[in-house]
Amino acid sequence: MEERFDKEGRLIFPKSVTFPAKAKVVVKEKKILITQVYCKNGHNLVRGEEIWNGNRAINLIAKRKKGKVMVSLSPYQGDNRKVMDESMKKGEIVTFLCPECGVELEVFSPCKCGADIVYMYLTEELDARDSICICSRYGCRYSCLTSGGKIVSEFAV
Ligand SMILES: [Zn+2]
Ligand SMILES: [Zn+2]
Repeated sequence: MEERFDKEGRLIFPKSVTFPAKAKVVVKEKKILITQVYCKNGHNLVRGEEIWNGNRAINLIAKRKKGKVMVSLSPYQGDNRKVMDESMKKGEIVTFLCPECGVELEVFSPCKCGADIVYMYLTEELDARDSICICSRYGCRYSCLTSGGKIVSEFAV
């Protein structure tokens, strides 16, 4: 088995990470930048102001038991920073929605933390085999990218 995580649980990705060209994923200096992701209705969620080193954030609505919060996720995989218009409690589980059509993100698999891991599509073709997956628990750092149905990079603590 190839060692995929260092001691801090940071992302270690295989040497040969390849994505379909249409995914427009930028792999540079051990960082993976997401420049587009889609809800299942084809809305690009990478939008708004260029607040992350000149890049746009992944924008989602987090539905809580009471109310909704606008969340802007860093477009760098494994970077847990986010901007929210309301504070949330660590450990809280939310339902992520497309900010344009309100559709719920679909479930990829259960996370080790017990919440659901949900996914977004990397290409306009909306092929679930090319996706970015994030945990729906606030404070859980799990995320992964799939290419051709295989997990090609993963971040877990
Ligand atoms: Zn949508
Ligand atoms: Zn989790």
